[in-house]
Amino acid sequence: MSSGRHDATQSGATETLLVCAKCGHENPRGNQKCRKCDAHLYIVCKQCGQLNERVARACTACGKRLHATAWRQFRKKWIKRYSLVQVLVLIVTLAVLFKVTTMIIDALSKPTELPMVEEDKR
Ligand SMILES: [Zn+2]
Ligand SMILES: [Zn+2]
Repeated sequence: MSSGRHDATQSGATETLLVCAKCGHENPRGNQKCRKCDAHLYIVCKQCGQLNERVARACTACGKRLHATAWRQFRKKWIKRYSLVQVLVLIVTLAVLFKVTTMIIDALSKPTELPMVEEDKR
């Protein structure tokens, strides 16, 4: 009888809890997502592919910073919301508006040209 039952003798594997980076809820290490807020508990390093705990600030394998700075996150969000085309359209619209406005101001400030009055020619 060859029962291929390999017991994973893990003694006290879940003694340490993984704190959620988002809400602070303590989850068992086996969880991929937070039980409370459903946020990911692990993050994959973009440089080496190492799976790191999300609460960690840098990759345990290569030391690369795992989280973008607040400014970079903001910029990423902004770029995602407004694509380059939209920004260009906005610039062009503003330019056209500016041009039209200056033209109107120019036309208004210009003294109304009187039609050529025929002088008395005798
Ligand atoms: Zn959470
Ligand atoms: Zn890494």
